[in-house]
Amino acid sequence: MTSNEIRDLTQKYIMPTYGRFPVAIDRGEGSRLYDPEGREYIDFTSGIGVCDLGYGFRPWADAIAEQARKLGHVSNLFYTEPAAKLAEILCKRAGMSDAFFANGGGEANEGLIKLARKYSFDRYGQGRSTIISLRNSFHGRTITTLKATGQEVFHNYFFPFTEGFRYAEANDLDSLNAAAGEDVCAVLVELVQGEGGVLPLDRDYVAALSELCAERDWLLLADEVQTGIGRTGTLFAFQQYGVRPDALTFAKGIAGGLPMSGILANEKCRDVLGPGTHATTFGANPVCAAAALVVQETLSNAFLAEVTRKGRYLREAIEALELPCFGKTRGLGLMIGISVADGYSNREIASRLIENGLLVLTAGAGIRLLPPLVITKEEMDRGLSIMRQVLS
Ligand SMILES: *Cc1c(COP(=O)(O)O)cnc(C)c1O
Repeated sequence: MTSNEIRDLTQKYIMPTYGRFPVAIDRGEGSRLYDPEGREYIDFTSGIGVCDLGYGFRPWADAIAEQARKLGHVSNLFYTEPAAKLAEILCKRAGMSDAFFANGGGEANEGLIKLARKYSFDRYGQGRSTIISLRNSFHGRTITTLKATGQEVFHNYFFPFTEGFRYAEANDLDSLNAAAGEDVCAVLVELVQGEGGVLPLDRDYVAALSELCAERDWLLLADEVQTGIGRTGTLFAFQQYGVRPDALTFAKGIAGGLPMSGILANEKCRDVLGPGTHATTFGANPVCAAAALVVQETLSNAFLAEVTRKGRYLREAIEALELPCFGKTRGLGLMIGISVADGYSNREIASRLIENGLLVLTAGAGIRLLPPLVITKEEMDRGLSIMRQVLS
């Protein structure tokens, strides 16, 4: 099919929930994508932080094919090797004690919220179920995670939302104290707010938050759906903040392009979710787990150090272009935000770059870059050169 045919068929039969760019993607290799007509795009998006190994990564494709031939799915009423191994690796690398596997970020956050409320219920009984989350956060699209999301624009249409969320300003301890109360059981944060605009939390704030949580026996919950799995230069972003959350969620990059997510929790939460309290049919799917094992093998400590170096290179190179539409860059590792100068629209800038062969994302009022973690210097330079040509 041609790009136009694909677009027309999509518009005819798929709900129009996405503001799509007029590009159809047919295949990829490394950090390059191609439309059905063979037109090349440099990818600074990795499918919104999913395809950390880029496209056509052989060991990943082989592991999936082999596992699919062997066993494509079996229910969680039985044991499987890929999920068991993956849980061990994630727990050891994150210093956590237990994993739960699900399928998407919003779903993992639902489980995280259940975990926090039941932890508190088990110890204190009812009445301590409120979770404080941060303004500008994003936690998902289910009825509950929309309400956990601290942006009023998401609290529309779908009433009634789940009760039990209060919001505090990021990096503001006074605001957090103002939201505190006897009814609180947990604080939920993204260490770098992704959809909100690539806004990293301050180290001091996170340290103080972690102390406050320990003092009051609030669970410290980290939504690492976007920041996790090497994106920021460590396996999880919390590892650069000198704190350890009580529980965290991961999703996007975990299986390099297959749908998978999950929760990691520490020993404090060990027996909270017992038999019958939480489940999901597709969770811990062996094909997804086999793909995730390849991601873990690839993301060695040396590879992660390289992610930090690539992030620094890309940010410095973008600032050096001194483009009139861009201000400063920010972020951690290969999670990069670019502020957009007054009078320019991030959506228009993104459209023009995409039209000219460079895929980028928006977030908040800025531009967001989440390139595949395997991106080469040559691919980054090619993207930078498109940026210079299109935006100078
Ligand atoms: C993408 C994202 C989610 C939602 O994940 P889905 O897989 O789309 O449900 C939740 N939290 C954060 C921080 C995200 O970036």
